[in-house]
Amino acid sequence: MKMQEHEDEQKRLEDEIYAWAKEYAEEHGWSLNYIEKQLKAVIRGLARNYIRHGERYCPCRIRSGDPDTDREIICPCIYHDEEIATQGHCHCNLFFDDKFFEELMKREKIPVPDHPIIENNHVDGNGNRD
Ligand code: SF4
Repeated sequence: MKMQEHEDEQKRLEDEIYAWAKEYAEEHGWSLNYIEKQLKAVIRGLARNYIRHGERYCPCRIRSGDPDTDREIICPCIYHDEEIATQGHCHCNLFFDDKFFEELMKREKIPVPDHPIIENNHVDGNGNRD
């Protein structure tokens, strides 16, 4: 694949994964990470794994190389429900329990945005809006 085609494909997948993740979070009453820098890094990693390995493997976990075993870490991985219930977020910080996130933002003294991150309501890694 040529460089430009590769970049276009990566971008297309990132948009697709972002749309999927947003809908999935909403269906479950969760939010995506409000911090744009972190959110983008996870989505970029998921798209990259899809291009390289053919599945949306978790970018924060190590693949064994065995497709049967690694099925467990295709996003949404088998761990995320329990992680969100017990820690307030999944291992990669993609999906968050709203209450946990608000408390975290208060503790870190980062302004809590009104809404989860959306294209016109960006919050950067320091909690600043556009
Ligand atoms: S921890 Fe699980 S749910 Fe979160 S990004 Fe990784 S695979 Fe997806």
